[in-house]
Amino acid sequence: MNSYKRILIFRFLLPAIVLLAFVPPAQSSTKVCPKGTKLKTTNVRRGETLEAVAKRVQVTPEDLKKWNRRLRPDKLKAGQNIRYCVEVIQPGSIGACHKGSLVGGRNLDPDGDHQGIGFVTAPSRKALWATKETISYVKKCAAEYRRKFPKGAPMNIGDLSKKNGGPLGNHLSHQSGRDVDIGYMTNPPQSRGYFNRNATRDNLDLPKQWAIVQCFLDNPDTMYIFLSHTVKDALLVYVNSHPKLKSKYSKYFRRLSILRPDNEHHSHMHVRFKCPKDSKKCKN
Ligand SMILES: [Zn+2]
Repeated sequence: MNSYKRILIFRFLLPAIVLLAFVPPAQSSTKVCPKGTKLKTTNVRRGETLEAVAKRVQVTPEDLKKWNRRLRPDKLKAGQNIRYCVEVIQPGSIGACHKGSLVGGRNLDPDGDHQGIGFVTAPSRKALWATKETISYVKKCAAEYRRKFPKGAPMNIGDLSKKNGGPLGNHLSHQSGRDVDIGYMTNPPQSRGYFNRNATRDNLDLPKQWAIVQCFLDNPDTMYIFLSHTVKDALLVYVNSHPKLKSKYSKYFRRLSILRPDNEHHSHMHVRFKCPKDSKKCKN
């Protein structure tokens, strides 16, 4: 062994090996944090007590002591690193439609061109977020409509939910990514994503309106379709005049289990979906 190799081994490699052998492994987050939570860190701010840090990160001082075993509450310094655990919230719909939120939602129009296959949205609409299930159901029905009516005016999609859900404008619901407003199909059509025309017996384009309603009725995850009495009655007449439709769909109109007529939805219908199966904190 030449002297260069000897120096390398004794001056650098051996001390490094010895050092590695005695350094305790970093405490992993699975060891520190209870199941279903993940490790985060924060720096103590100037003048903060342990209680103040705990309050800021929304845990208790006792929790902080448990997660930071060498912590001296009476000797906190500004800038000091403190570990804490936060609940891991799975993506999905949280709470109820009228009092809830949305985690990890998808956008109906991610490329921002205000359109997709068979539908348009108004440029001013920003609440185009929903669960991945809601987005796929709406896109599926819009695409199905487009297949049936290749040259028909597009579906006008209104509000879904905000990115993180919560209260949205004048809506009572639309808070948890499970609601969508869809303009009625009229003659002449509503324009570019706005609901600027109320549906009447005379202007309702029944074949198109039925195609859209039928798609949502066929989806077992559709919970309700809120619509006006006028539109519901017109659809019932339409279905009853087609023997094949009558045998399959009349029950929806008789039981009113899914179709919910009201006095609020004159320009658009409102479709609500059931809680997705993996949204454990969702309330139907
Ligand atoms: Zn609505």
